[in-house]
Amino acid sequence: MNICVIGTGYVGLVTGTCFAEFGLNVTGVDNDERKIALLQKGISPIFEPGLEEMIKKNLREGRLVFSTEIEKAVEKSLVIFIAVGTPPRKDGSVDMTYIDEVAQKIGENLNGYKVIATKSTVPVGTGERIRKVIYQYSKGKKVHFDVISNPEFLREGSAIEDFMRPNRVIVGANSDQAIAIMKDLYSPLYLIETPFIVTNVETAEMIKYASNAFLATKISFINEIANICEKVGADVNVVAKGMGLDQRIGSKFLHAGPGYGGSCFPKDTLGIVKIAAKQGYRFEIVRSVIKVNEKQKERMVEKIKSAMGNLKGKTIAVLGLSFKPNTDDLREAPSLTIISALQRLGVKIRAYDPQAMEAAQKIIKNIEYGKDPYDVARGCDALVIITEWNQFRNLDLKRLKSIMRNPVFLDLRNIYEPARMREMGFKYFSVGR
Ligand code: NAD
Repeated sequence: MNICVIGTGYVGLVTGTCFAEFGLNVTGVDNDERKIALLQKGISPIFEPGLEEMIKKNLREGRLVFSTEIEKAVEKSLVIFIAVGTPPRKDGSVDMTYIDEVAQKIGENLNGYKVIATKSTVPVGTGERIRKVIYQYSKGKKVHFDVISNPEFLREGSAIEDFMRPNRVIVGANSDQAIAIMKDLYSPLYLIETPFIVTNVETAEMIKYASNAFLATKISFINEIANICEKVGADVNVVAKGMGLDQRIGSKFLHAGPGYGGSCFPKDTLGIVKIAAKQGYRFEIVRSVIKVNEKQKERMVEKIKSAMGNLKGKTIAVLGLSFKPNTDDLREAPSLTIISALQRLGVKIRAYDPQAMEAAQKIIKNIEYGKDPYDVARGCDALVIITEWNQFRNLDLKRLKSIMRNPVFLDLRNIYEPARMREMGFKYFSVGR
């Protein structure tokens, strides 16, 4: 089967490459010529564990090609995945420009029955919007097509594993033919008994927003519990463990920290609030979740301030810039807000991240980058862990302490034991403990 994936970003590139791995013939399409030129050479423009090897293998075996020519890709494909970005506008509503552009191109180049599957996270009602645009631009051709919703739940950093072994596959479709084709596409997942939910388009679109809003709620909830723990002398890590063992609650997404970031939670929480507001409904819980998350980042700056006193002229070593480990993605990363606030207070920042430093250079100025954690820690007045990359979990603490000017250690991800850190002579601060 020939398929194409339009948009070769974090989602589209993983989707296309994994479908090629399933044995399908895939064209990855993007209008970013630089990205496509890299991909044609087998170079991944993003860091995602295992992805580049899989791209190279499937290019070599001839199942995966990359192109900027959307027209040809649409013409030869039975299934067209839309995986372009849906960024937030200034007011929080979803920017549909890229989706509309792609729908128009699909309409113009429709040459036979096709399934158009939306992987991008889109407001409820987008399936119908895409259908109308395609219909408008394919008018006169009298070609039959189906628009379905197939939201993606992969996590950056473990995207391939998540795509290959998802918790569930959601297909929102109103046509038996389209459903049968999707089942065929995903047949390798049937073999490993992945649950499939087949529903209507609107419900599928809603499942994605509801899932992300709920996960963001868990994070803001535990962050508020952490803030209370600090006041009453409780330990949020143990509280989370005690809560999480209750199967009705579950242990995931109960890690206190500097607030959620990334390309999904911030935009999708804003998005669902807007979607609800458009229908005259005020989504109170998620509005609070967003507010708590913004405040949590500010609280981290306050925490650093109160640990260090006057910040002017001080040097802080920052470990971790990406919004989470195992990705180079900096979109809405808490590090960006925290570093900018510290810089405004007169702090000099030195930073190290295993993958995100190149991307960071384009976004924030006046950071001195180091080659490893010790390189940035040398002579600093405090060290702050913002992203919990594995390599930060086992730092040589003796060495660190000997090279820092002041042994102030702010662990915003709670990866070290407070008692041990104090024993080692650090002034140690974490979140909710
Ligand atoms: P991204 O910005 O990394 O990738 C989008 C790609 O689309 C870019 O490469 C861009 O050049 C391309 N594009 C834009 N307009 C185009 C056009 N007209 N023709 C061809 N290509 C075009 O975004 P992403 O993180 O992959 O997210 C894509 C969608 O998937 C979003 O709706 C997002 O909410 C959703 N999603 C993301 C994740 C994630 O972890 N990143 C997870 C699940 C769902």
